[in-house]
Order: sequence, then C-alpha cells, then structure tokens
Amino acid sequence: MLPRQRSVADAQVLRRKGRLQEQDPLIEFMMGMHATHSSPEVMAKVEGWIGEHIRDPRRSALCRLVPGIGRFLLPLNLVAALEEYDDFGYLSQRKYVRPNFAEIRHVLNIAQVHAVSPSLGLLTFDADGTLYEDGAHIEEDSEMIDRIVALLSRGVKVAIVTAAGYTEEAAFEGRIAGLLLAFQSLPRDVWSKFFVMGGECNYLLRVERPGTDKEGRGGDGMGPLGLEFIPEAEWKSPEMLAWSEEDITQVLDQGQAALLEAADRMKVEVQLVRKERSVGVVPMSPTVYECLEEITLAAQVQLGGDPSNIPHCAFNGGGDCFVDVGNKGYGIDSLMRMLEVEPLQVMHVGDRFTVTGNDAVAKSKFGILWVANPDETNWYLSILQNDIDSQQAAGSVAPSALKTF
Ligand code: IMP
Ligand code: MG
Repeated sequence: MLPRQRSVADAQVLRRKGRLQEQDPLIEFMMGMHATHSSPEVMAKVEGWIGEHIRDPRRSALCRLVPGIGRFLLPLNLVAALEEYDDFGYLSQRKYVRPNFAEIRHVLNIAQVHAVSPSLGLLTFDADGTLYEDGAHIEEDSEMIDRIVALLSRGVKVAIVTAAGYTEEAAFEGRIAGLLLAFQSLPRDVWSKFFVMGGECNYLLRVERPGTDKEGRGGDGMGPLGLEFIPEAEWKSPEMLAWSEEDITQVLDQGQAALLEAADRMKVEVQLVRKERSVGVVPMSPTVYECLEEITLAAQVQLGGDPSNIPHCAFNGGGDCFVDVGNKGYGIDSLMRMLEVEPLQVMHVGDRFTVTGNDAVAKSKFGILWVANPDETNWYLSILQNDIDSQQAAGSVAPSALKTF
C-alpha cells in the first residue's frame, strides 16, 4: 500500500488533464458538427438556429438537437465572431485540426459581447476564478479596477455576484479593498452603481461613506468608503423572504450530511464550514478535482430527491464543495428588480458553467461570458469597452438611458 501522501502526489502525476470543467451541450454539439462541416458552415448554421430558438424556444431545431440548451435572448452573430477569432486562431484556415472546446467558447463569447454591448445595463461578475484567482482579492494593482471603473463611468451598473457569504461587512470589504480605494477619488455617481451580492443571493451590499444618508448628505464627505448591507426588504422577492429558518436549517443539515458522507466514501479528509446560509467541506490536503466533483454530485442527487427543499446550490468550487441557500439566478434577478434592468440588458461573467458550477443557473436566464481565468475576463472587457466607446462616440444612446425595449 502506498502512503497517503505519496498516493495523492502520484494521482497528480498520472492524471491526464481533466475535462470536467469543459462540459456544455451546445459547445460539444458544435465540436461534433466539425466532423462534417467547416467552421464557417458550423457558425452559419448555429447562428440561424439560435435566431429560430429565440423566436420559438419550445419548438426550435436547437431544443431537439441539443437537449439542455441554455436560454438565448439576443441573436449571436457567430459568422462575424469567427472571422474576428480567425485573426489569431485561424480556425477557418485549418484542414486537419478541429477547434477545441475553449476555441468554440471564445467564438460564442465574442459574439455575446458584441450582441449585448449596445444595450448593456447590468454586468455581473463571479468573483473567485473570474475577477481574481481562487481565494484571492482585488488588490490595488489589479487590472480589473480600471475595467470596472470604465464601465461604471460609461453608465453600466456592475455587481459582483459571488458564493462567498459573510455576515460582516469587513469580510466583503477585504475581498475588494483595491477597488474601494480607487473609488475614493471618484464621484458618487460612479461608485453608487456598484454592488456586491454575497452568498449567491443572501447578502446585498452597496458602497457608502460611513455617516452619510442615502442621498449622500451628512458626514464630512472625506471618510473612507466602505460597504454596507442593504436591508432585505429593499431587494428580496416575496418568495425569498418566505424562506423560513426551519427550511434553511433542513436544507443545510441535509447538505452537510450528504457532503460528509460522500467525502468519507472518497476517503477525503475535510474540514466542515457551517454558516448561516451555507455549508461546505474543505479538503485538508490536495485532492483530485474528480473527487470534489463526485462529492458535489452526491449532494445534488440527495438534496434534489427531497421536493420539500427550498432552492439551493450544491457546487464544486475547485478547492472545496459548498451547499448554499438559493443561487445566483435569484441574486441577479434581485439586482435586476432593484435597478430596473431588463433580462436582455444583463450579462453574467463567470468561470463555472458546468452542472456542478455555481454560475450555471445564469446560462438558463441571461447572456453569459464563460471565462477560464481572470486574464480572459480582462481580455473580453477590453472588447466590451471598445464597443461601448465606439457606440457612444457614434452618438447612439448611452446604455444607462436604455431602460426598456
Ligand atoms: P465564486 O466563484 O465567487 O462564486 O466563489 C466561490 C468560492 O467562495 C467557493 O469555492 C469558496 O471557496 C468560497 N466561499 C466562501 N464562503 C462561501 C460560502 O458561504 N458559500 C460558498 N462558497 C464560499
Ligand atoms: Mg468562480
């Protein structure tokens, strides 16, 4: 028998690169089409099908060809996006090497950015893996600061929608300290459009200068900016407000039992984290991703089997597994209601869109940008900023002015 330390190290050496973070019915379908079609043909066909799917989602060709297809609200110009990607990816020129998952994801992303940029009202970001590396923070030198400030200054509302949930404002402030510092020298008009939704949909915070009221009166106007919780009644839906403490305890107790049982079965030694709106297990030593996936799926299966459970999200965070009350869909819906933004004007940027990912729910409700790391986020934000600048320079309506269609 190999000592435990050794066997984990061996598993890292022997494993081929996992594919679990690259699963999506549409992208896989498009990859398969390349057996008989060129990339431009694939993009032209899928572009047409998406248009048809938007018009009639229940009887479209796509819903039959790709069971589990997400929701599309805006037509995607995939042929043009492919041409843009070809500038450096050369997909159309390739004869022997088919596009991989990430390449098709990039073409869809490019098309999505161009589709939403004229009407973007609310951009939501996952935090870990999207704005910064897992478990890190927005530091003073983060490239994301300029990007977020640029969007806010152009009238786009921005929110971080993260699973990380805390009951103390300071814990949230710590994750975005660099951004708060940058806001310090900017007018209220800019930072008042920024929000943090924590615990998927359980805690909503806005930027505030302590001592001032809602209209910015009072205080000396000089103190440091911080985050403050917005009272639940101002943003939670009646459905969310009706989730009782008993129901919450039930779902978390069941989640805890399922996570611990599966971790035990996988022989993964874990530390239990129990909070007011979530429960999670964190491995005590490096663990293969597949084991976390197994633990998460076990929790999803067990919780899903009880119809009395309130909405929840069991997900694989890459280095831990959590069960949270609610999900990011409720979080983004709440922001939309509060900010009076339509679904068509929303785009969610995240890194986890597979069945065990906590961004996946956004795919069934809004336009999404699927990134693999913060560098990709930065790259796509540069395209978005460029689009908005050209549109505003050309005199089209500023995004903030577009409320309804
Ligand atoms: P996200 O990618 O920004 O949604 O953050 C997910 C990560 O937040 C998880 O993988 C955890 O490491 C961390 N986290 C901290 N607190 C919580 C919690 O209460 N629920 C879920 N995840 C949490
Ligand atoms: Mg993430």
